[in-house]
Amino acid sequence: MSEHDDKPFAADAYFLGPKSENGSWVRGEFQAILDHWFDWRRSLFAEDPEAISPARRLSPEFLREREVLGQELRNLLDMLRSEVPKFTPRYIGHMVSELSLPALLGHFATLLHNPNITSREVAKIGAKMESEAIAMLAGMVGFDSGVAQGHFTGGGTMANFEAVWRARYRLDHALSLALVLAERDGDPLDPFMAAHMGWREFERIEVERNVDEADLRAASMVLGNPFDVARRIGKCTGRDYLGPVLITPGNKHFSWQKAANLFGLGEDSFWNTPLDQEGRVDLTALEERINEARALGRPVLAVISVAGTTEAGEIDPVDKIADKLEALKAKNIHIWHHVDAAYGGFFCTLLGGKTEDVLEPAQQNALRAISRAQSVTIDPHKLGYVPYSCGAFITRDEHAYRASSFQAPYIDRADVSDKWRCTLEGSRSGAGAAATWLTGKTLGFGPQKFGKIIAAGIDARKVFTKALIKAIPLVRPLRPADTNIVCFSLAKEGETLSQSNARTLAVYARFQAHPDFSVSKTVLGAASYDALIDQHLKGHDGVRDEDSLALLRLVFMNPFWTNPETRDQLTPEFMGLLAGFIE
Ligand SMILES: *Cc1c(COP(=O)(O)O)cnc(C)c1O
Repeated sequence: MSEHDDKPFAADAYFLGPKSENGSWVRGEFQAILDHWFDWRRSLFAEDPEAISPARRLSPEFLREREVLGQELRNLLDMLRSEVPKFTPRYIGHMVSELSLPALLGHFATLLHNPNITSREVAKIGAKMESEAIAMLAGMVGFDSGVAQGHFTGGGTMANFEAVWRARYRLDHALSLALVLAERDGDPLDPFMAAHMGWREFERIEVERNVDEADLRAASMVLGNPFDVARRIGKCTGRDYLGPVLITPGNKHFSWQKAANLFGLGEDSFWNTPLDQEGRVDLTALEERINEARALGRPVLAVISVAGTTEAGEIDPVDKIADKLEALKAKNIHIWHHVDAAYGGFFCTLLGGKTEDVLEPAQQNALRAISRAQSVTIDPHKLGYVPYSCGAFITRDEHAYRASSFQAPYIDRADVSDKWRCTLEGSRSGAGAAATWLTGKTLGFGPQKFGKIIAAGIDARKVFTKALIKAIPLVRPLRPADTNIVCFSLAKEGETLSQSNARTLAVYARFQAHPDFSVSKTVLGAASYDALIDQHLKGHDGVRDEDSLALLRLVFMNPFWTNPETRDQLTPEFMGLLAGFIE
């Protein structure tokens, strides 16, 4: 715990404010950015002539053009008046809210310079900022920021794809090595064991056994012909090779389905682990899935855990999953562990501070264990208060960061000029990196400042939930609620699930049609949430006649809920509205 922990910190003052309270300060900073932009141009190549002469700029024809542009711009601004107002504390719908000022200013300043951080050649500063910002995020989740690697992505979906891309290469290359040895030297081939040897072992064997790169390529499902390679594996093992499986928890984000689809895995390779009655990965079930894969001779592409589920903000027992995978590692089974912390990565800012106790100890331990994974997804554009589009993919070290490699090149942290080789995306904006960078330089990603904003959201959720239960007897909160999201159904004692689902969805529709508050809904299916649905119904003797549970969902990440006047005005107003919506 730091001595600075006790210092008062005006978390919400780091935002523009629902009444543009910080307007004149922000105007000054935006002005400074524009001044810098104009001066920068003038100061460079000062001897060069002006390019746009007054006669052209100020010709009557062009002045008319300017007028049209001005009108259309004002049209655009007019249209934007009807955009969803996400700055207000009345917006508790999705995982988005007011942007922080460091993020907004960093984004805007960098936008004007338009760096494409795919290459140092076109983004000298942008690329440097990216490595520094990645190091900050890496430190936040507990990686050694001096050795962690990563890059910014278009979002969490892309970052998750990056993990699959790497895990697939590693698995594929190890398997191809084993296949070459089986065919060339008659080594026994166990696809499951071979695929999980890990990069280091791969490199050792490759050199020791003097394996030719061309042979490896020909035996690779990614670089060669997958159908031919599968046939050859089958020939060596005496049974058909059915390919790897991707083990995801039932609470996963939809992007994992997309990943399986995109990487040609087929639905059959997409294995869901059932959840326990708290909606978290069932550890026994996870172990069973791994054993099942092993028995079928199918390698595990990766095990995914979720820190901060999209539905309810819940945190998987990442530590216990890491324990299981480390126990396997001791048996030379290296399974890739990726933590999808797109939403929840920023809860790590609470750790080590006084306010970490807003989280239960189990969730603190889970967050601390993110650093034991190979790779992690973080979405600054969610709980980082950074503008879209800004996701990040981070690996513990350069071994995990490597995509395809038969030769084991060393990725020099300082040399990011070839970043495009190791990113799925090509051109990438530096604005998100800069927004994250400036946030890290000011708010930091620790408990002293940023963590207080995050803690305030969790507190707000707790206070609001209490008030909800008190005001509206039909409110049945989903338990547990680990973080800053509350989900609830509206159910009468002893009624059927279909009745309460209908009521909950009807109330959601009324909120949708009402401008005063934005809420969201989620529907949990029994395929993954079977035990949780039963547990939820128990609380009010609900009768299960349906296989899904509809919930209203409120996300408390808006920083202004810390303001007592805001809370005291909006809470009863919301309750009144909700009560009126229930028939
Ligand atoms: C939002 C989210 C994603 C996807 O992120 P995008 O930025 O929307 O692409 C992935 N995983 C989890 C857990 C998420 O909450």
